[in-house]
Amino acid sequence: MSDVLPRSADVVIVGGGIVGTAVARQLAYDGLSTVLLEGQAFGGAVSGASLACLGTHMHNLQELDVLVEACAHWRELSESLGDPFEYNHSGQLRFIMREEDVAVARRWIDAERAHGLPPELLSPEAVREREPLLTGPIVAASWSPGDATVNPFLAVRALLADGRRHGVSAFHSTPVTGLTIQGDRVTGVQTAKGPIAVGKIVIAAGPWSAGLAAMAGVNVPIVPRQAQCLASVRQPPIIRTVVGACESAGGVESGYTQIQQARSGQVLFNTVVAPEGTTPGAENRINEVPLRFVRDSIQTLTTLFPSLADILMLRSWVRFEGVTPDDRFLAGKLPPEGLYIAAGDNGTGFCRAPYLGRLISRLVRGVAAAPSDALYDPARFAGVSA
Ligand SMILES: Cc1cc2nc3c(=O)[nH]c(=O)nc-3n(C[C@H](O)[C@H](O)[C@H](O)COP(=O)(O)OP(=O)(O)OC[C@H]3O[C@@H](n4cnc5c(N)ncnc54)[C@H](O)[C@@H]3O)c2cc1C
Repeated sequence: MSDVLPRSADVVIVGGGIVGTAVARQLAYDGLSTVLLEGQAFGGAVSGASLACLGTHMHNLQELDVLVEACAHWRELSESLGDPFEYNHSGQLRFIMREEDVAVARRWIDAERAHGLPPELLSPEAVREREPLLTGPIVAASWSPGDATVNPFLAVRALLADGRRHGVSAFHSTPVTGLTIQGDRVTGVQTAKGPIAVGKIVIAAGPWSAGLAAMAGVNVPIVPRQAQCLASVRQPPIIRTVVGACESAGGVESGYTQIQQARSGQVLFNTVVAPEGTTPGAENRINEVPLRFVRDSIQTLTTLFPSLADILMLRSWVRFEGVTPDDRFLAGKLPPEGLYIAAGDNGTGFCRAPYLGRLISRLVRGVAAAPSDALYDPARFAGVSA
């Protein structure tokens, strides 16, 4: 593997998280000479710290076709690459703690079943058959059997390795410091290791993407939001599925809760009882995990799984997601000519990454768009059209 940057390429991708890696891999598969530049470590930002659930349940219904395609793609990747990222077809339970929220779950289930998906409503007894230690005061749960998880860090590494096998030149510790623009089109990127002449640039820099787009004079509406996770010490296998909260109007379940057990044995959980947005423009750096988050998370875990009251915590972490005003990615063309973006993950970007790789490749190669691609077109925001 050469340490020397190529002087030119068809496409440069800025950002080596799961999105940039998936985009680079797809472009190389589709025959373009592709350079992937990561400012720090591949998967070292939010991607490697994710819970990486791949699912269709209780997401934006407009995106269901995308999610079905993305989940199928992850399954195929796992099979074709020989399971290098601990693909676990675990299914997902969304617990319900208040009778009035059963109707909310039913609405989701009906809408997804109308798309041919198989979610169903389970009684507390049926939940315990699937998740025996989930003995807390739930009134029901929805069950989505198709959902899965992967090990996020291994997934980035596997896509990177496969991309390299197909011709991606990838460099870590190589931040892009400037974009070169001549007339109305991009012509290159600048880095501390030298410039690269390139006709097409894809910004896949997560919450840092707005800063990169600004180098081309474009304002994209992506702001950072802090996301955090707790991990226990290694446990014997005790949690089988992804346990999430059903959408609700209030109470402990109204925030974002996701609990699962990694193949390493660590119980991972991510709970925000009252989600607080990070102020737009807030500094995009690693902060301490708030103590309130630790306390609320442990309380939620032990409410749902009372037998885990004595579980020991090992560590916690904070990362930054990129948030857009309508909770959907920006994936498509930006001005000037030759500039593209795939960012604005809204905390669910792991699942969508392979789809975004295909979308960006279609645009870069000028082939027909898929109907769902329009959902992500940055031009839906005033002043961001290519
Ligand atoms: C606790 C937790 C749980 C989650 N659970 C899920 C889940 O269950 N399912 C799901 O789908 N998603 C989940 N997510 C969200 C998911 O991890 C993210 O949506 C996804 O990883 C975003 O990937 P990305 O490639 O866009 O961003 P990032 O991983 O942030 O990658 C962007 C990269 O760009 C690099 N970069 C920035 N500026 C430059 C520059 N100038 N030059 C070069 N490189 C640069 C950064 O160093 C970084 O590596 C979770 C996140 C967290 C924190």
